[in-house]
Amino acid sequence: MGHEFFQKGRDGHTHTHFCKHGSEENAELYIIEAIKKGFQQYSFTEHPPLPFELTQTIPNGQWLVDELAMSMNELKDYFKIGKELKDKYQEKIDILVGLEVDFISGMESFTRDLLDSHELEDGLLSVHFLPGKDGWRCVDFSAEDFQDGLVKYYGSVEKVYDAYYEMVEESIEANLGPNKPSRIGHLTLIHKYQDFVRPKDPNYDREHITKILSKVKQSGMELDVNLAGLFQPMCKEIYPPIWVIEEAVKLGVPLVYGSDSHKVEHVGRGYDYFIEIMNQLAMKPF
Ligand SMILES: [Zn+2]
Ligand SMILES: [Zn+2]
Repeated sequence: MGHEFFQKGRDGHTHTHFCKHGSEENAELYIIEAIKKGFQQYSFTEHPPLPFELTQTIPNGQWLVDELAMSMNELKDYFKIGKELKDKYQEKIDILVGLEVDFISGMESFTRDLLDSHELEDGLLSVHFLPGKDGWRCVDFSAEDFQDGLVKYYGSVEKVYDAYYEMVEESIEANLGPNKPSRIGHLTLIHKYQDFVRPKDPNYDREHITKILSKVKQSGMELDVNLAGLFQPMCKEIYPPIWVIEEAVKLGVPLVYGSDSHKVEHVGRGYDYFIEIMNQLAMKPF
């Protein structure tokens, strides 16, 4: 088996200075870093604005809401700067300007409008929010918040996992129009605080993930192989773990490496490890 299930030298999940919970380093510095590290293709996948309907029910406070995503005005500038950088560096690297779009159950019309009115060259569809205590909760804000806002609310971490994967499943099936992103972002983001709280059965989500993978395949979607989890102190695991990557390869689901950079120094992080995994899978007789 060759390497046809992924594209070498591509970073398909990155952020820029338009992300308020990242660094203030300019998007251009990320590009310079990517060129230096030998990447040939690079996707900007910034977090777009969130629906008011969601943000007004996030109970943590306005400061968190402000950090989650840019405003509608900034979105225009983001695309403009992305296109400028694309042109400026076209001889050196192929820049794709896209978004990491949130799937929020019940707010599909907002998401669809956003997608209908922007041309994306690449895109991720991610679940970062679940209904929880006193409103919508980020699944990846902090371990304490995860425990208090979700685990206590659902009654067990197992039930939080169920709710999360159901939302991911819904995202695959959702009608978000012709510009719907084709790649599922960090499929196992719910593992982020697993060293703090995790299901008793280590294989608890195996069945659900297997079902999701077949839906990803059926829908012709791709998977973000997101290295950020490996560097999260309470996760220390790639999103998704290797067994999932192996199943995806068996099914023929295309995989795209993603650094999920929120800082220049994150560009290409874990890429060597990703290649190592891919090489090992390439040697397996499927
Ligand atoms: Zn982010
Ligand atoms: Zn994300």
